Amino acid sequence: MKLGIRTKLFVLSLSLIALSLGISYGYLRRTLDANLTLRIEQDLQQRLRLVAYTAERAQLVPSDPKRWQETARALSPLCAARVTLLRSDGMPLADSDVEDDGLAGLPNHLGRPEIAEAQQHGYGRSTRQSATLRRRMMYVAMPFRQADGNVGVARLAMPLLDVDQAMAQLHLVLLVAAVLGLGVAVLMSSAAAHLAARSLQKLTDTAHRMARGDLGTRARSEGEDELAVLGRDLDSLADTLSRALAELSRLASLRREFVANASHELRTPLATLLSAVETLRAGAAHDPAATRTFLDIIYRQASRMHALVNDLLDLSRLESKASKLPLGPLPLLEVVRQVVALSLPRAVERQQRLTLAPQLPPCRVLADRRSLEQVLTNLLDNAIKYCPAGTEIVVSWTASPKSPPPGAEVTVSVADTGPGIAADHLPRLFERFYRIDTGRSRALGGTGLGLAIVRHAVEAMGGQVAVRSTVGQGTTFTFTLRLVEVGTEAAA
Ligand code: ADP
Repeated sequence: MKLGIRTKLFVLSLSLIALSLGISYGYLRRTLDANLTLRIEQDLQQRLRLVAYTAERAQLVPSDPKRWQETARALSPLCAARVTLLRSDGMPLADSDVEDDGLAGLPNHLGRPEIAEAQQHGYGRSTRQSATLRRRMMYVAMPFRQADGNVGVARLAMPLLDVDQAMAQLHLVLLVAAVLGLGVAVLMSSAAAHLAARSLQKLTDTAHRMARGDLGTRARSEGEDELAVLGRDLDSLADTLSRALAELSRLASLRREFVANASHELRTPLATLLSAVETLRAGAAHDPAATRTFLDIIYRQASRMHALVNDLLDLSRLESKASKLPLGPLPLLEVVRQVVALSLPRAVERQQRLTLAPQLPPCRVLADRRSLEQVLTNLLDNAIKYCPAGTEIVVSWTASPKSPPPGAEVTVSVADTGPGIAADHLPRLFERFYRIDTGRSRALGGTGLGLAIVRHAVEAMGGQVAVRSTVGQGTTFTFTLRLVEVGTEAAA
């Protein structure tokens, strides 16, 4: 059976109220009954002592039943209870509530629990439904000495009217309380259910709107209950989704921009190349001097396109392999020496001093050889390209202690004393196709991708790049690598 939240709450609160009322009724009934009965018995017991005493003083003998009856009749109004006097064998000889001629018809009372108890223990009591009066009665009995030396029994009986009345009152009070309580419970539970159903409806509506794509909608739940928490979770889910979407569209527009830039970069040399070929075909080929000029142009543009395509391929290789470059321990000093040796002729040609800092500690770093070589090559190429003659270019790093803790890094730097880069360019320097002077970069064979490749390669090896520069003083590019070991470069 499918129950709505309202019905469930309603049934639950009804059951709770019924249960608590039931428990209080059971408890009250028992204690009230026990207390009242005890009080009545104590009271009745006092009067019984008086009756037994008086019966003894009356010197009763079984041969004079009339006297027994007179005594019972006289005592009954005094102690406001029914008085029965029994012979030692249990036959009632007097009963204040029975006419004289009815006495003979009374049964032997020996079997009544209060009589048996009184004869055995000197006092007996019993509470039971009276067959004649049809109501609950309390009986107390006590022995008394007859004039002939035998032991008779005096008994008092009283209806438990007070108890029954008190019980009836309790029933009434509880009934009223139950009706009132149930009424309040019905109101409260249906109000609570109504509120819950309303917040749920609000949440459901919000979730539906979100599912339809309206990520601007919010539940804006207030309070601390579960539904409010759910509402806030829904809101933060929508926040996260909106941010993710914004990031996706930012990435998409970056990609579009990149494709446009790359196409543009390719189109320019291609157009120059085509027009050089056209010119040659139109007749310039017959002129040896012009032919050389145009072949130079063709060579330069083709080289430029070649460099660009190479850089684009490197970038896409790094992006697609970003998380799975084959990293292994590499001897840093050895790799740096090789790259510096390859760059040295160009530095010498441009009259620059390219050196390794003195006393570099040999160490092994976690890296991919090809990527590390590319990072160093690009940084050295740039320094050589963009710095004038007389510039000092120094490669260095610091590494200690001998056994580095896990997670230790080595920071490699390529510093030049060149023209420096203005501060406003620094934040965007590692972006693809970002150049400070496009014409100059192109003229020097730059693609605008060198530093982007550096950043991607370093990050793919788990490191970070940074740049510091002062115009007129020089630039220092740094990147970090994970340090494996200091002091040895023995091949792995
Ligand atoms: P490019 O292919 O143009 O060299 P890069 O991404 O390698 O592209 O470099 C971006 C720009 O940063 C360069 O165009 C250049 O202006 C500047 N740059 C890079 N390295 C240096 C340096 N050592 N000194 C001065 N400027 C530099």
